[in-house]
Amino acid sequence: MKRLLFMGPPGAGKGTQAAIICDTWQIPQVSTGEILRAAVKNGTEMGRKAQEYMNSGQLVPDAVVIGIVEDRLQEADTKNGYVLDGFPRTEAQAEALDQMLAKRNQKLDCALNLSVPDEELIGRLLERAKKEGRADDTEEVIRQRLVTYNQSTRPLIDYYQKHGILNNIDGVGALDEITGRIKAVLESL
Ligand code: AMP
Repeated sequence: MKRLLFMGPPGAGKGTQAAIICDTWQIPQVSTGEILRAAVKNGTEMGRKAQEYMNSGQLVPDAVVIGIVEDRLQEADTKNGYVLDGFPRTEAQAEALDQMLAKRNQKLDCALNLSVPDEELIGRLLERAKKEGRADDTEEVIRQRLVTYNQSTRPLIDYYQKHGILNNIDGVGALDEITGRIKAVLESL
């Protein structure tokens, strides 16, 4: 049973690695970015509200994403563990998550932080933009997402360090090399 959190700047590969780990351990990947993109695509009210923030590289308001995760973690498939991918992104979200878990007498097992230097991130994100055509993968929005990350999300590295569950992973290298580093950490938990 593992409750895991994957952190890292946009383009660090956390979504890709989270998918591999979830496949291996047969646990769901809870990605707020994916849930929000689906809401935008389906034209729901939440999607309409979130779209503007997403397209400009800003964070969707805490109350919206906290609500998403609260709902998602009540679903039966999360009973045996999960990987949170892209949540929390602010201290308020991290505190809300702690409260959700505390209510159920649960704890996170590990916060994995994938670190990749900024110069490499921009190149990777531009490459992804070409392949996936995400609306928020233009160079201007990419730069804004990195600013947003540095301001609001990077401080969470400290937050989880203080909680004693942080593991830093070097996110530079071949995809399966990085998967190997992650698995080594998770198997040692
Ligand atoms: P991602 O796919 O994780 O890069 O997320 C894409 C976009 O969705 C982000 O740039 C944000 O606008 C929004 N988003 C995803 N997760 C969160 C979150 N935890 N808090 C606020 N906004 C989020």
